[in-house]
Order: sequence, then C-alpha cells, then structure tokens
Amino acid sequence: MTKADGNLWQTTVQEQIATSPLSGDVTADLVIAGGGYTGCSAALHAASAGLSVRLLEAETIGHGGSGRNVGLVNAGLWTPPEAIAKLLGETAGARLSSILASAPELVFSLIDRHAIECEPVRSGTLHCAHSPAGLKDIQERHRQLVAQGAPVRLLPAEETRQRTGSGRFHGALHDARAGTVQPLSYCLGLARAAQTAGAQLHERSPVLRADYDNGTWRLKTKQGSVSAKHLLVATNAYFSELKGIEPPQSIPISFFQMATTPLGHNLRQEILPGGEGCWDTATVMSSFRKDKAGRLIVGAMGSLDDFGGGSHRAWARRKLRALYPQAGEQPFEHAWFGRIAMTSDHLPKILRIGPNGYAVFGYSGRGIGPGTVFGRAIARAVAGEGEAAFPVEARDAHSERFIGVKQRYYELGVTLAHIAAR
Ligand SMILES: Cc1cc2nc3c(=O)[nH]c(=O)nc-3n(C[C@H](O)[C@H](O)[C@H](O)COP(=O)(O)OP(=O)(O)OC[C@H]3O[C@@H](n4cnc5c(N)ncnc54)[C@H](O)[C@@H]3O)c2cc1C
Repeated sequence: MTKADGNLWQTTVQEQIATSPLSGDVTADLVIAGGGYTGCSAALHAASAGLSVRLLEAETIGHGGSGRNVGLVNAGLWTPPEAIAKLLGETAGARLSSILASAPELVFSLIDRHAIECEPVRSGTLHCAHSPAGLKDIQERHRQLVAQGAPVRLLPAEETRQRTGSGRFHGALHDARAGTVQPLSYCLGLARAAQTAGAQLHERSPVLRADYDNGTWRLKTKQGSVSAKHLLVATNAYFSELKGIEPPQSIPISFFQMATTPLGHNLRQEILPGGEGCWDTATVMSSFRKDKAGRLIVGAMGSLDDFGGGSHRAWARRKLRALYPQAGEQPFEHAWFGRIAMTSDHLPKILRIGPNGYAVFGYSGRGIGPGTVFGRAIARAVAGEGEAAFPVEARDAHSERFIGVKQRYYELGVTLAHIAAR
C-alpha cells in the first residue's frame, strides 16, 4: 500500500474562499458558531433574506464532518419513514420525512444557482443487499418509500452487478432523487455563496464563550466579539471550547475512508459506470463510490487513530479485493476519518439553548441534505417565521446516556468485525 496522506477532499477541493479572523467588537442579527453545512446554509439563507450575519469557525470552513464525509446526498434519514412516524407521531413524522425527501433537490438546486464546483453527480444512490436478510431490509424500505411516492426501484442481482461492477450483492435499492458531491467543495461553495449574499465569515475564530444578557447574545473570540439577537450553534460532533453553552449531547462515532489511485480507463467503465454512490446493508455498514478522477473510495465505521486503525486499513484492502477482484491491488493513496454525531433514535435535534438561541445537531451520518435544510430552517425562523419553520419540534433538553461507554463499544465492535471479515 502506498503511504496514506490524509483527506482526499482537501487535495481535490475546487472551491476557495478568503476570510480573516474576527477582530474587534461587532454586531449582527444572527451569529453562528460552526462553518459546516448547517452554519453555512443558515448564513446563506439568512443573508439572502436581508439579515446581517457573522459566522465564526474555529478552524477552516468544512473542518468538521462537512469536509470529511462520503458525499452521498441522500433523501430522508437513515431511519425509514414508518419508524420516524413511530418516534415522532404520525403528523410530525410525516412532516419531517416529506421535508427531507426533497433535501437533495435543495442541495442540487443550490449547486446550480450558485455554480458550486463540487463534482455533482445526480444518478442516484444504491443501497446494496449484502445478504438475503439485507435483501429483505431493502424490500421493506422500498415498500415504505413507494408509499411516500418516492422514485425508488428495486434492482435484481444481475442489474446490481451491472451497475456496481461487483457480483457480491443480492440486489439493490436505487433512489433516483439522490446523488454524490465532493463534500468539502460543496461546503465551501455554500460559504462563498453566503459571502456573496453579504454574510461575514471568519475562519480561525474559535468561539471561546457565549453570554446572554438583556436580549443580546455575545460571543467572544480571542480577538473580538459579536453581539446579536439570534444565535445558532452549528458545531455538531466537533463542538469545542465554547464556555457558557452546554455541549449538545450525541455519541461520537468514527467513520474512515480510503481512496485508491485513479482507476484505468477499462476499470472505470466496469466499476460504477453510472457514478452512483453506494452503501450496503451490513450491520457494520460500508460505503463505496468513485470520485471525478476515477478513484475508488471505500469507507466504514472506525477510527484510524485508535487501537483498531491497523485492522481497519487491512480490512479496506480485503474489502476491495472481495468487491472488485479486478481492482483488488489498486494502491490506496488517501486515508482519513471523521466523527459522526449519532443520537440514540438517529434523529436530528434542534435544541433551545436560551432566548433566540438554538443548537442543531445529531444528523447521525445523514447531514448533507438535512444540514442544508436545517440551516435554511434556522434562517427562516430568524427572518420572522419563528419555530414554525423547523422540520422538527425544538426541545428544551436532550441527553444521551453512557456516551463514552457507547463510543468505545462501537469502536471495539467494528474493530472485531473488521478483523473477522474475510
Ligand atoms: C466520515 C463521515 C461520513 C459521512 N458521510 C455522509 C454522507 O455520505 N452523507 C451525508 O449526508 N452525511 C454524511 N455524514 C454526516 C455529515 O457529514 C454531517 O452530518 C454534517 O457534515 C454535519 O454538518 P454540520 O454543519 O452540522 O457540522 P460540521 O460540518 O461538523 O461543522 C461543525 C463546525 O463547527 C466548528 N466548531 C466547533 N466548535 C467551535 C467553536 N467553539 N467555535 C467555532 N466553531 C466551532 C468545527 O470546527 C466544524 O467546522 C458523514 C460524516 C462523517 C464524519
């Protein structure tokens, strides 16, 4: 294996923005902590509605999950619609499912409108059945999604083989609404569009404290402060440093990816010729897709920095050989990972953190569409619609139990699964 040199998306990023750290004391209508999809979408939509916006990002735009993910622009959540309705009640569940069903439409229309250079491919996603039980799972998802009117199709094993280029699957669920992007470029493109709309973005500006007094939030950084009536904390699994705000509670789950060198012409025609983004039905799920240059990218749960790092890397090689014997020895040239903010019910949350203050988090591995939608909802709420704009009801508290124990349990579980997998 060639030496892994980090995050592919940073190497192939097409979008760029220029910002400077916050300095001095300024005011705004809305102040946002965190420059991922949620924060950048909120900034874009609030500025477009005529509000003054300051966004403070601790590192650089897309430093968190938004610059590290697989790039699958999915419709809906991981949890199927009927389970969402059970958790939230019929009306609230149907509302959330219907809003998120059109999340890819929002993402791809923003990409078009703002000419975001992010390798968009809208040929759908394939949820691939790795076993007979997995086939039952996608058949059930198909039934529920068809009842929602979604343009999904069950592909037989042979068509799945033709589309994926792998003979390992028993069938697949194709969702025509979905697609893929270069995730960091999409995030930076949102940030650029937000700047063009008038939002002021500041990278390298970690928010150190937040205080609320007399109708105003005051967020302090090392060299300045922003005072604003409205606050959005959009730090998801990457919350750091911020005193005065209780960290929103979720279980941080690591997910890693490894990308090969670009495939040769013949393999590119054979493997995912239509460019769909894929994942499978295994309990320890894995993802695979190609990028624009024809690199094959495989991913799965696990941290490359933890005790399981070596096992995860060895698993990726075996996975590649099993899925694509014809490309099994293609060298890996990039390896990276990120943190997913998982909630116990796998549903995203909007938390009231004080008057006119919200934290949005917990996309549980489905944040490209939902983050864009929830960011827009916050902007609409601030622009006058209030909480009626939210896709889920805002809540006053959210707690998760045994966060550290669950995090270790997942990491140990996926490490053992990757050691055992042949
Ligand atoms: C490896 C991986 C694969 C995934 N795959 C997919 C996928 O294929 N499809 C999909 O839809 N979703 C996927 N997700 C989930 C998705 O990436 C996230 O849900 C989404 O990026 C969350 O966006 P966000 O804006 O809420 O948070 P983030 O993008 O995590 O941004 C939070 C930001 O807050 C900043 N921050 C933290 N503390 C402070 C502070 N004190 N002051 C200022 N800034 C601060 C951080 O630096 C960070 O940039 C994946 C996630 C990971 C990690």
